[in-house]
Amino acid sequence: MSNGQNNVVKMNGKFYSRVDGSRLTDCCHAYSTFFDDELVCKVCYFNVEFGEGDGSEKVDVKTLPSS
Ligand SMILES: [Zn+2]
Repeated sequence: MSNGQNNVVKMNGKFYSRVDGSRLTDCCHAYSTFFDDELVCKVCYFNVEFGEGDGSEKVDVKTLPSS
């Protein structure tokens, strides 16, 4: 497995990084960044909701499901 998705886990309909527990964008499972006043996915540059990939929503990685 080397598709780059190994560190992404879905929980309660949201995607999280297994590395640091950050919530990732729903669209690309990536981090996001501010572009002007909009929060956008760093991969596809579509607008995302606050909390998706911006580091404000984090969970303890130990609480993430193993599959
Ligand atoms: Zn995206």
